[in-house]
Amino acid sequence: MKRAVVTLGAVLLPIALSSNVMASSVEQTKGSYVDKFRQLDEALATPNVYRSAAGEPGEKYWQQKVNYDIDVKLDEKKRRLTASQTIEYKNNSPHTLKYLWLQLDQNVFKSDSIAERTETFNGKALQGNPDPKPTKLSLGQLRRQQFMSDNELGFTVANIKDDNGNELRATVVDTLMRIDLNEPLKPGKDVEFSMDFAFNIVEEDAVGARSGYEHFEEDGNDIFLIAQWFPRLAAYTDYEAWTNKTFLGSGEFTLEFGDYDVEITVPADHIVSATGKLDNASSVLTRTQRNRLEEAEDAKRPVFIVTEEEALENEKEGTDKTKTWHFKAENVRDFAWASSRKFMWDAKGYHQGGDEQPLVMGMSFFPKEGGDLWKKYSTEAVIHTMEVYSRYSFDYPYPVAQSVNGPVGGMEYPMITFNGPRTKLQDDGSRTYSQAEKRFLIGVVIHEVGHIYFPMIVNSDERQWTWMDEGLNSFLDGVAGREWDHTIPWGVEPRDIVAYMKSENQVPVMT
Ligand SMILES: [Zn+2]
Repeated sequence: MKRAVVTLGAVLLPIALSSNVMASSVEQTKGSYVDKFRQLDEALATPNVYRSAAGEPGEKYWQQKVNYDIDVKLDEKKRRLTASQTIEYKNNSPHTLKYLWLQLDQNVFKSDSIAERTETFNGKALQGNPDPKPTKLSLGQLRRQQFMSDNELGFTVANIKDDNGNELRATVVDTLMRIDLNEPLKPGKDVEFSMDFAFNIVEEDAVGARSGYEHFEEDGNDIFLIAQWFPRLAAYTDYEAWTNKTFLGSGEFTLEFGDYDVEITVPADHIVSATGKLDNASSVLTRTQRNRLEEAEDAKRPVFIVTEEEALENEKEGTDKTKTWHFKAENVRDFAWASSRKFMWDAKGYHQGGDEQPLVMGMSFFPKEGGDLWKKYSTEAVIHTMEVYSRYSFDYPYPVAQSVNGPVGGMEYPMITFNGPRTKLQDDGSRTYSQAEKRFLIGVVIHEVGHIYFPMIVNSDERQWTWMDEGLNSFLDGVAGREWDHTIPWGVEPRDIVAYMKSENQVPVMT
C-alpha cells in the first residue's frame, strides 16, 4: 500500500514519543544512550528446524495449501457481488486441526465491527460518546457516515457444507469466521468444503478502502476494484498457529498460497483485469483483440488491446447481457480483480532471462481520465519494476503483471495493482498532467508492482509486521526510481534518517 508521500522523519516523529523501551541490559554502549547500531542478536529469532540460520527453510519447514474454485457475479446496478466457492484445504502441518479460521474482511464495514466501534471523529468516540459538546465534522466524514448508514455492508455467508453436503458449524467473530470440521483433519490430509456469499460493494471515495466502486457522473458508468472479497483461509503457521488477528482497516494481511480457478460474470461490455491468466480469451475477446495480444508479446511499445476509441464507444452504451471471464492462477496467496466498460487496455511482453523464463505480459487498464499519462508510462513502469526487482531479488514467477486505474490511490494484490493518479481536464477539453503527477504515477506503479514481490511472493504477515514488506519495498522502489531517472530524488533519502538515528527517543523497528 502507498501511504502519503512524506519524509521518513515525518513518519517516525509522532510515534517516537513512546520513549525508552529499549533501555536495558542490551544497550551495548559506553555512554548513557542505547547504541542504535548495535548487533541485533538479542532481537533476532533463534534458528530452528523450521527456519535455518542461513535464512532458508529448515529441514522440517511446512506451509499449508489452499485452493479456491469461485463463481462470482457482479450486479452492476445494485453494486452487489454474489458468489459461491469450493475450498480445498491441505493440512501440511504436523498437527490435527479440529477447526479452520477464515478472514471475512468485508465485515470491517459492518456498523458493529470493532473497526467502526473504535472509529473516532477528531479524537472523540463516534458511538456512545458522553461528551455533550458538538464535534465538528468535515464533509468527508459526513459523507462516509451517510454512506455507512444508507447501506447494508459486510458479508452474508450461507450454505457452509462439507463435500458430503453436511452442514458445517460456523461462528463469526467480527472479521473472522471459525468453521468447525465434522471430523478432525489429520496431518497430510485434505478437506473440501463450500459456501455461498454476497456483499454490497462500498463506494471507495465515500468510505476510503482498499477496493470499491467509483461512479462517474458525466457518463454514468462505474469502475469496480474488487479485493478482499471472498472468505479466505487465515494462515496457520509453526510460530503462531492461526494468524487470526481481526481486520481493523489499516493493517493488511497474510494468507496461504494456493491455486485459483475463478469465473467472473459481468456486463458483456465490461473489460476485466484479474489475478491470473485469462483462460477463455476466445469467448470474451474478439479475434482482433486476440491478435493484438499476440502482437504485444514482442512489441517495442505497449499495444492497445482495447483502444481509446473502443473504450469511449463502450462507455456510451451499457447492456443487460453478461459475459463470464475465466481466470486461473497458480501458487498465489490472494486473488483480486477489476471490471469496467470504461477501460482501455494496453500490453507489452517482458522477456525475462531470454527464452528460459516464461514471458510476462505487463498490462494496464484505465479510463479516458488516465489519458496520456497512463498511455505513456503505466505499462512501461510495470515492466521497468520487474527488470530492476528481478535483478536484485528473484525472477518474476507469474504470467501477468498489471496496473489498473481506479479510485484506490495505491494497493497491491498478486499480479494486479490499483493505482490512482490521473490527468486533469482543461477548459478546452484537453487533458494534461504536471511533472509531479507524472512522477507520482511512475512512483506508485513501481511501489505497488514492487509489492507483488514483497509481500505477495515473500509472504510476510503484514497485519502484524508492516515494516517487513514496506521496508524492503521502499528501499527497492527507490533503487528502481533512480534507474528510471537518476536526477529525481525518488523514495527515501539516506540522509533523511540521520536526525532520527541521532535522537534520544526511538521505537523498535517492529513498531
Ligand atoms: Zn507500500
